[in-house]
Amino acid sequence: MDLEALRKEFEGCECGHKHDFDLEALEVAHGNLDRVAEILSAHNFPKKILMVADVNSFRVTKGLYEQLLSAGYIVELRVYDSMKVADMREVEELERELERVDGCLSVGTGSVNDICRLSSFRKDKQFAIFATAPSMDGFASDSAPITHNNFKISYPCRQPRIIIADTRILAEAPTELKAAGFGDVMAKYIAIADWRVAALLHGDYYCERVASLVRRALERMASLAAKVPAHDEEAAAAIMETLVLTGIAMQLAKCTRPASGTEHIISHYWECKKLTHGVISDYHGKKVGVATLVVADIYHKLGKLPKPVAHPEHIDWEDVKRHYGPELTPDMMKFNEPNTIVDEIDPKLVTEKWDEIMKIIDEEIPSTERLRELFALAHAATTPEQIAVDRDLFRDGIRYHIFMRRRVTIMRVLPMVDIDPLNVYEGK
Ligand SMILES: [Zn+2]
Ligand SMILES: [Zn+2]
Repeated sequence: MDLEALRKEFEGCECGHKHDFDLEALEVAHGNLDRVAEILSAHNFPKKILMVADVNSFRVTKGLYEQLLSAGYIVELRVYDSMKVADMREVEELERELERVDGCLSVGTGSVNDICRLSSFRKDKQFAIFATAPSMDGFASDSAPITHNNFKISYPCRQPRIIIADTRILAEAPTELKAAGFGDVMAKYIAIADWRVAALLHGDYYCERVASLVRRALERMASLAAKVPAHDEEAAAAIMETLVLTGIAMQLAKCTRPASGTEHIISHYWECKKLTHGVISDYHGKKVGVATLVVADIYHKLGKLPKPVAHPEHIDWEDVKRHYGPELTPDMMKFNEPNTIVDEIDPKLVTEKWDEIMKIIDEEIPSTERLRELFALAHAATTPEQIAVDRDLFRDGIRYHIFMRRRVTIMRVLPMVDIDPLNVYEGK
């Protein structure tokens, strides 16, 4: 992908921000597994590195370790059995190992990348990724969602300098993983709508150029939906590039707004609640995809309700705390004290802008039917059963997720207009 052209596209943006990103190289091509040492050297990546993988990613990149050694790299190797949760303990462990090297090469996707991203940022080491599956949009992200005491928080870090992928490996990745990547991209329909509404009601920063970059990525992904399950190298490359692009969008905007809206918070709620019971949840993009369908459905139904009049919200905090439970409540309340984010919004404005909010939903989010069609083509998960979220947890996520972040989304405003999203979803 031509990153220079992308940089140029954002020069002199009318939003007033100076847009830039750290990523220097995105190399996605057939046969790149055999060229990793060459690509790293071409970009002056340090020779003393820590290579981090899990058993799976190590297996599908057979020969990479030896290739680096014979190219003169001094490689310390760390292979995890499996890593479904990126926990602060692993980050701290890697930080100690990184003290002996100058760079970190993360081999894999998801959690492996996340712990490498944060630990190398904290230790100020150079960071590169060899991606093995197009499963989520975090590759080019400059933040890392890390779990600490079962509560998931996004930590600011730096983008990798280099992202490498081999289309042979990407195409062979399990459909479940590719479909998860697809789901993570579909979430951006909601993210952009929520972002525009946050700008409208709360004066949050918004950039139309970044939003249209994301819309372009969405369009491309939607057109490829049917190819997600196929072992198609071209499609796998396009999915990968789309995922990286949405990561770049976050850095261009210097916030996660372009890539994550209320659907990501619902997914975090499910995930954190399961973790408090010691249960590790499904792939990020898979959960986020299911949440996207739920939110799209609720948002579209809002327009069919009588136009509401807003007032300051009245939250039954005892009820909220009961649902979060003793373990998660303190972290949750930090986002809601001394006041909540919607206390900063004038109810009159919500009433006045309601029609405009409905218009934004219609402009940004395809109909639920259309989304379901795309998800079916991509073989992506669509039901709570497929992500092992039981009925109670599923419903609680819809109703209580909004308190888990200090962030204006359309969902977050609903208590001000006495609309219960769960009732809307269930047609009550
Ligand atoms: Zn801008
Ligand atoms: Zn995501």
